[in-house]
Amino acid sequence: MPDTATPTGTQAAVRTLRNHIGGEWREASSSESIEDRNPATGELLARVPLSSAADVDEAVAAARGAAREWGESSPLVRMRAVFALREVLDANREELAALVTMDMGKTIADARGEVGRGIESVEAACGLPHVLKGESLTGVARGVDVDLIRQPVGVVAAITPFNFPAMIPLWFLPYAIATGNSFILKPSEQDPLASERIVELAQGIPEIPAGVINLVHGAREAVGSLLEHPGIDAISFVGSAATARLVASTASATGKRVQALGGAKNSMVVMPDADPDLMTTGLCSSAFGAAGQRCLAGSVAVLVGDRAEQDRSLALIVDAARALTVGDGADPSTDVCPLVSPASRERVEGEIDRALSEGCEIVLDGRRDGGAAGAELGPTIIDGAAPDSRMISEELFGPVLAVQRAADLQAALDLVNASRYGNSSVIFTSSGGSAREYRARVQAGMIGVNIGVAAPVAWFPFAGWKDSFDGDLHANGRDAFDFYTRRKVITSRW
Ligand code: NAD
Repeated sequence: MPDTATPTGTQAAVRTLRNHIGGEWREASSSESIEDRNPATGELLARVPLSSAADVDEAVAAARGAAREWGESSPLVRMRAVFALREVLDANREELAALVTMDMGKTIADARGEVGRGIESVEAACGLPHVLKGESLTGVARGVDVDLIRQPVGVVAAITPFNFPAMIPLWFLPYAIATGNSFILKPSEQDPLASERIVELAQGIPEIPAGVINLVHGAREAVGSLLEHPGIDAISFVGSAATARLVASTASATGKRVQALGGAKNSMVVMPDADPDLMTTGLCSSAFGAAGQRCLAGSVAVLVGDRAEQDRSLALIVDAARALTVGDGADPSTDVCPLVSPASRERVEGEIDRALSEGCEIVLDGRRDGGAAGAELGPTIIDGAAPDSRMISEELFGPVLAVQRAADLQAALDLVNASRYGNSSVIFTSSGGSAREYRARVQAGMIGVNIGVAAPVAWFPFAGWKDSFDGDLHANGRDAFDFYTRRKVITSRW
């Protein structure tokens, strides 16, 4: 158990989180820590230690120590372990969702969805005995047979972002251990409580030996140590595009397998024939849900048609966005939660001010007093931004929607495909022909048709194109099994 003497959230004696290494909760060697606060109330929830290279060394040693036996365990044992993980997460869904809301800020409905999606990844990993089966070809020459088998990579680490503190660790942990690897998680230092609870729940599963799942808190120094460490074989990363590029290049330079999912600037194309209800609901939940802090958030609306058709779509969007309520994610009536921190809100407000100073029109102004903790910002819609402005081309990660206008679908595709990012893109239309044209020609990894947040279910790979992804194999689905295993081909004569 982590230090439970002090309940999470009491101001009087706020606990400093511990690392989980070799089956034990251990204090980090570093005395430096940062504060983890509830974004809605400002309450100090915990102190997060900034673990050092020495802490990472300990975690790698524990993971290495456990890797061989775990890697050689029966796939059926590992399947049962992952199944037990699924059961214990399912039994604690509500607690995990409440932790996500308290620590990251998103609405409780959104947090429940996130935990559900995370559990789906665990369910997908339960299929491991089928997926890990090899291939063989007998008699390639007289008395000679060929077999392809899969083996674990060894020790793998995942470095995860703040915006899905329960789901994204679960994109990696279940597949990594299902395939026989030992695993080290370095969660976001901004909201690590759900990760801590997931590891604590996994610790109670008898089929999972000590050292197979480890948790190291921290930030840059801990990440740098993981990337440089010769005892780590593969790195899974999710975060901003700049960090993804840095992680991918450093991990490759030290000979590690790497998958790095980066940032996004997702466009939503609105055709004049879009169903108004589907369009406004899908578009507003994508742009403003989780206060725009999703990698699949649509942050540019490309309105298609003549000027009157474009204005009609915009009026529908503005009316729907204006009706959204802003507040504490724990309040079930809240639609738009606070940003993860007051600093984040200030940064996004600064981007709105910059757009206005560049001559943009603010169609809906969400700037307001920031609420109890100073992190709230209402839905904001900006028209008239230049294609090369930050409003159109850079990820702002806040509840801000920029508007672009296009005469027809081809012009819309040109605007969308000009982005350096390619995570996701969606189209709202009633025309099968337009949808078909769009899905064929748009340059992005995850596409929605009349769906605002087109997150693939866990049995499909999750990642984008272009600057939204560095690597080859995506997260989740079959790709996850491939990423966490090495193939070996054996040619035998008897
Ligand atoms: P971030 O890049 O700031 O942090 C991600 C992780 O990297 C954290 O664990 C952090 O401690 C570490 N980190 C940050 N800066 C570092 C540095 N300079 N050196 C080493 N490690 C560093 O990202 P964030 O703000 O936590 O998350 C939001 C970002 O993640 C957005 O850009 C979002 O689009 C992206 N994201 C992408 C996906 C996807 O599927 N592509 C999914 C979720 C989030």
